[in-house]
Amino acid sequence: MKEPFLSAIPVLKRLEDAGYEAFFVGGSVRDYLLHKQISDVDIATSATPDEVKTIFSKTVDIGIEHGTVLVLYGQKSYEVTTFRSEGEYQDFRRPKQVSFIRSLTEDLKRRDFTINAMAMDRTGKLIDPYQGQLAIKEKRIQTVGQARDRFSEDALRMMRAVRFVSQLSFHIAENTMAALKELAPLLEKIAVERKKTEFEKMLVGENWKEAIAIMLETNLFAFLPGLQNRKQQLATMMNYDCAGFKKTEMWSLLVYCLQLSEHVTEPFLRDWRLSIKEINDIKRILGYLKKRLQQEWSVFDLYKAGSAAVIESVEKLYLAISGQNEKNTIPPLLDYYQSLPIKDSKDLAVTGNDLMEWFQASGGPWIKEQLVSIEKAILAGKVVNEKRKIKEWLMACSQN
Ligand code: ATP
Ligand code: MG
Repeated sequence: MKEPFLSAIPVLKRLEDAGYEAFFVGGSVRDYLLHKQISDVDIATSATPDEVKTIFSKTVDIGIEHGTVLVLYGQKSYEVTTFRSEGEYQDFRRPKQVSFIRSLTEDLKRRDFTINAMAMDRTGKLIDPYQGQLAIKEKRIQTVGQARDRFSEDALRMMRAVRFVSQLSFHIAENTMAALKELAPLLEKIAVERKKTEFEKMLVGENWKEAIAIMLETNLFAFLPGLQNRKQQLATMMNYDCAGFKKTEMWSLLVYCLQLSEHVTEPFLRDWRLSIKEINDIKRILGYLKKRLQQEWSVFDLYKAGSAAVIESVEKLYLAISGQNEKNTIPPLLDYYQSLPIKDSKDLAVTGNDLMEWFQASGGPWIKEQLVSIEKAILAGKVVNEKRKIKEWLMACSQN
């Protein structure tokens, strides 16, 4: 076994020494078998949350009604969740009641897909009652039990299926796919926040095109914010190569493909519950992308774009959209940006106060205009960004 499991072994051991069962479960076991990077390990135990809290000195209640306690141990934290079964579901999204149980197999049974329904003990032994290993070998996403039942219990699982297609490049089992097609409209019942989490993981997965194709084929897309009646536009996304794109870049591409005008971009992203910061970043990227699709970068636009990250995102999108992915124009562009004499109006060696003093004039819109012309002159190499030089240049200009 390797990290991050190794550091977590003592946590399992403590639970066992206290007379309980404890296992690694869920995504970490799946990713371990796939030799993928493991983000965090989830631990499942037969101990109830109260029992877990008596065993460890430092814990945080993060979801006690679902049986989850955060255990702080050796500089790290672990989500420890009591084995549970879920009673009847209501509204296609949440169980009426959650019961804590002492059986691991029952806990694994309530999990969504067979690849996610495996457990591993602290010696590395796998517990795999639903043939998850075989599904991994066959690259198959299949529900634990009847797909129709499992999607009716919690419709979010349909999006999770598609998200795993993107992340793992697996295919969806036939019966699971049939249920997706049949039950797609149930997705309407699911909170946008939950859909967003899965949708974003889908967007940045390496097999995202196939995932979009499945969303289109099953009609799942029609139950996502702002995508109803957008089949054609959404499909155009698949024309572009976006390997290694970040979340905001994929959102920008989506908005571009949907051909949303500027004033509907923000409401669309708000409907998806993106943060103000994310929305502003995306709007910024799209603004410069529009320009970039018409012309080369000007020095002033590079400056105004305001950060290497924005410039890089815009250029990545530009290259993808214009089908020039193989071009390696980004490093020289960023080098050029880094070499600009100023990168922010705060870098200017003069202020509005200097101008008022030099021209013996009171404040007004002229200051802003004058500062912009100074910025442009500095960026164009006409004047050096030093107070004295700028003053000389201004005086010379005003005499002409
Ligand atoms: P990731 O690597 O993205 O975290 P994950 O499989 O760990 O993927 P999580 O959302 O962290 O996904 O869920 C942890 C585990 O909980 C899953 O592996 C699965 O066993 C179970 N699970 C999560 N969501 C559901 C759900 N909606 N229905 C049933 N089981 C679920
Ligand atoms: Mg996880």
